[in-house]
Amino acid sequence: MTQTITVIRGDGIGPEIMDATLFVLDKLNTGLQYEDADAGLVALEKHGELIPAATLESITRNKVALKSPLTTPVGGGFSSINVALRRQFDLYANVRPAISFPNTKSRYENINMITVRENTEGAYLAEGQEVSADGETAFSGTRITRKGSERIVRYAFELAKSTGRKKVTAVHKANIIKSTSGLFLNVAREVAAQYPEIEFQEMIVDNACMQLVMRPEQFDILVTTNLFGDIISDLCAGLVGGLGLAPGANIGKDAAIFEAVHGTAPDIAGQGKANPVALMLAAAQMLDHVGQPENAERLRKAIVATMEAKDSLTGDLGGTGTTMGFAQAIASRI
Ligand code: ATP
Repeated sequence: MTQTITVIRGDGIGPEIMDATLFVLDKLNTGLQYEDADAGLVALEKHGELIPAATLESITRNKVALKSPLTTPVGGGFSSINVALRRQFDLYANVRPAISFPNTKSRYENINMITVRENTEGAYLAEGQEVSADGETAFSGTRITRKGSERIVRYAFELAKSTGRKKVTAVHKANIIKSTSGLFLNVAREVAAQYPEIEFQEMIVDNACMQLVMRPEQFDILVTTNLFGDIISDLCAGLVGGLGLAPGANIGKDAAIFEAVHGTAPDIAGQGKANPVALMLAAAQMLDHVGQPENAERLRKAIVATMEAKDSLTGDLGGTGTTMGFAQAIASRI
């Protein structure tokens, strides 16, 4: 059966990087079909809603979406459309690879790690948050569950197994936050015991940050709770040259959404200056997910070769190329 992908072109630089990505995917002969769906500002203008029911229905039906960045207007009823989509489809695993690319300004070469962040609970649910009437005290609750911890740690180990990775590091603060972080760590230990062939390491989050900056090559897969994962995955993106090269997947039991990590970059929108690689790398994650790992690898190799040759690189990578010119250079190496 032909697999159809819901394509959300998004706002700002979204349509440009999506055109570039679909152009490159076309060269891979994936056999995938694409169905356009609107979300964000463009959806608000066209349909009067930030996430129209037809878009939700398309993702529900296709189970896989490739999504450009979206603008969440202030006062739009959501704090973030991305967060709303993650909640709607219970996309519990945020999977962010950080891989070194040639000719990028970064402190390290040969980094190859993946952060697996729990996406649905923890500090970001901010349960019962309030500020007292006199403005002197603020409160926000953190809930961690056995189920939430179990499925995210299991996801990390299964990812290690399926990609031939050797080590999973659970990042926590159980020495101080004994309740919530303690539960996460205990569950991580229980799950790890079921995967004796994969090395398990525990690391306190502050030490993990220092180790990531000093000796990032020691890490393979990191798994952690929502807040720590948000911070650590951006730290990892910084280690390999910034957000223009950082893809992310949001994966649940019944749906998965693949995206670039960066925002809509309104400062360069519509100018053909945007780097499309983050979304292309998200598309590579998508190809892995739909059972086309060979095509995912071909795409990644073509990106690496193009960057090695410094062919048509965009401004953020020190070149003078355009979004589509860069895509053509990558496509020519597939
Ligand atoms: P948003 O409000 O949607 O998060 P933002 O501008 O605050 O937008 P980003 O979109 O992540 O945040 O952009 C931060 C900076 O990085 C901007 O200067 C932007 O031009 C640049 N940038 C982001 N993505 C890219 C890209 N794909 N190619 C080139 N530059 C980018």
